Amino acid sequence: MIRKELLAAVASEVTVCTKCLLWKTRRNAVPGEGGAKSKIMLIGEAPGRSEDAQGRPFVGAAGKFLGELLSEISVSREEVFITNVVKCRPPRNRVPKSLEVQACTPYLDRQMRIIKPKFIVTLGNYATAYIFSKAKLPFNGITLVHGKPHEATILSMKVTVFPMFHPATVLYNPKYKTVLRQDFQSLKDEVERTTQSKKG
Ligand code: URA
Ligand code: SF4
Repeated sequence: MIRKELLAAVASEVTVCTKCLLWKTRRNAVPGEGGAKSKIMLIGEAPGRSEDAQGRPFVGAAGKFLGELLSEISVSREEVFITNVVKCRPPRNRVPKSLEVQACTPYLDRQMRIIKPKFIVTLGNYATAYIFSKAKLPFNGITLVHGKPHEATILSMKVTVFPMFHPATVLYNPKYKTVLRQDFQSLKDEVERTTQSKKG
């Protein structure tokens, strides 16, 4: 099967999944979307209200800002893959419980194995903590690691993890706008640098 079909198979399982209790309160599960051969995968925490309503990731206010950040570095939503650690909305947007994460992350792991991204951009503390633990890298909060590349091996694949503050942070504290813009610029520079060094 080609990657696109494998991803569609994951998505159709997620849509009807009942492996944790979040299925009871969701309107729509949110498997994620984007290119099956994306060089960059972006991982958030969990769907919010708008995502739950539409079944698509990052389509609310935080998603709008994420779209701006991507377009500022000339990247379209279609050429990256966007998903979350947990695929169904936790009630009142509470943080996911560890049982929910345990039940759900096999889907994320499958998506990573299918797409084989070169860059994993973790959005916020939660996704960064999950991916750093998967890579067996020490993690002491997003403030110490954001905006810098971290070479890692995840699921036996070499990837560069690039942590960012969560775009929703900006909705509460506008000062993070500048930081996020700078960090996305650094991501762009790093992507270009590695692409060029591969060309020789
Ligand atoms: N916040 C997230 O972490 N993920 C989404 O999909 C939307 C908001
Ligand atoms: Fe299944 Fe994940 Fe939704 Fe829980 S959050 S029901 S494990 S898709």
